Amino acid sequence: MCRHLAYLGPRVSLARVLLEPEHSLLRQSWAPADMRGGGTINADGFGIGWYHQGRAVRYRRPCPMWSDTGLAALADTTVACAFMAAIRSATVGMPVVETACAPFGDDTWLFSHNGRVTGWPGSLAGLAAGIPPVDLYTIDAPTDSALLWVLLRDRLRKGIPPGEALGSLTAEVLAAAPGSRLNLLLTDGTGVWATTAGHSLSILHRGGVVMLASEPHGRRGDWTAVPDGRLVAADMSMYTVEALA
Ligand code: GLN
Repeated sequence: MCRHLAYLGPRVSLARVLLEPEHSLLRQSWAPADMRGGGTINADGFGIGWYHQGRAVRYRRPCPMWSDTGLAALADTTVACAFMAAIRSATVGMPVVETACAPFGDDTWLFSHNGRVTGWPGSLAGLAAGIPPVDLYTIDAPTDSALLWVLLRDRLRKGIPPGEALGSLTAEVLAAAPGSRLNLLLTDGTGVWATTAGHSLSILHRGGVVMLASEPHGRRGDWTAVPDGRLVAADMSMYTVEALA
């Protein structure tokens, strides 16, 4: 059910993190190790978002990561000190289009959702009622993940701190749509926030590198698994893991 990853640290080529490790995101697109809740491969598109001079740049494609002929060169020649990437296994009934691929975001933020919202879209009608209509007309794609981004962005625009916005959104979606799987991932290029609700997540925080990933991409001993039902907040100097409200 989709796999995602966020990196903060020294400048590194995208290829070094996303393509080269033994159990890279590229490999996870056809051979993921810890899929929960259905799905066997992540072949319904992918996306990468990174920061250039403080601004988020995104590259999303509706094809399997392994079939993008331009990716190897792009990833080799793009260096960044903060990025997010995701590979997608579309939920039944949701379209396979570029704009349904994470990361979602804008100039400052990158966001990904691994999971599905039970009873979507009806179950989120109450939460969406408070959103300015123009934000709903301009939604990226008719998917649960795109709507979660619109709901989260609204909270961020209101000045709610990112960890609090992610935590409150997760709690409210779980109340409105019980049984949803909501592994959310958010970065602004200097901090990263994540939830675990129904899917796997691991963290590597060492030597000036922070990585949060659905699956460790290298030696498992370097990574710490985050239990279910947690909110993680991390930056270069520290990280915290708390129970979701
Ligand atoms: N439900 C989302 C989508 O279809 C995310 C899918 C997933 O995590 N497998 O895009």
